[in-house]
Amino acid sequence: MNTSTSRILSLALVASLAACAGPRLHDRTQTAFSPRGAPVSVTHEQIDQPLRGKCIVVDPGHGGKDPGASAVDGSREKDYNLTIARLVAQQLREAGATVVMTRSSDKFISLDDRAEMADRHRCDLFISIHADAASNPSARGATVYHARGALAASNHCGEELLGALHQAGFAHRGLREAGFRVLMGHSRPSLLLECGFLTNTSDAANLSNPDWRARISDAVCSGVIAALQS
Ligand SMILES: [Zn+2]
Repeated sequence: MNTSTSRILSLALVASLAACAGPRLHDRTQTAFSPRGAPVSVTHEQIDQPLRGKCIVVDPGHGGKDPGASAVDGSREKDYNLTIARLVAQQLREAGATVVMTRSSDKFISLDDRAEMADRHRCDLFISIHADAASNPSARGATVYHARGALAASNHCGEELLGALHQAGFAHRGLREAGFRVLMGHSRPSLLLECGFLTNTSDAANLSNPDWRARISDAVCSGVIAALQS
């Protein structure tokens, strides 16, 4: 890694921390440090609004008459998707992005209508938030999907999102291809994140925990910043 790459990574890290840590780190600083410890000047814009000028469509999966998967305790995927998507949307807005949500309440929206929003807003990234289910109760962990034959941009965003989840310590099953309509039905870069399995005891407990949901939202935001900045 050369010096300028290190410096860019250092700036990106400062930006990610400031943008994603919410009120905890909103005690702003104007000085960042290069890997060798020399101060470098960073503007408020770079720190606070690394996603300025970017448009992101956040898609909470399911909704209304379509509950998605269910946990043994009766909690429903559509509710977790919306809760996590709202946290992600809020943090992306704080990072300067224009964020469009495909739904912001418990409402049914067709897959085609969701996909159409990606093209209509010419978004830089469409990200769909889901929780998984499997007949095998031991299946667990987050999964990042991009479309079959995905755009290079989708692939890049997927790698960055997966890297952020990995770095934050989330169990995951890697970056995979899928033919989901919300990924294939438009021409914009897109990802679908399955946060974990409602059919797995430990994942279901995580999904029901507000602190865990805040942490995965932080990681998603860091991944999106890393993807769209580089
Ligand atoms: Zn789902």
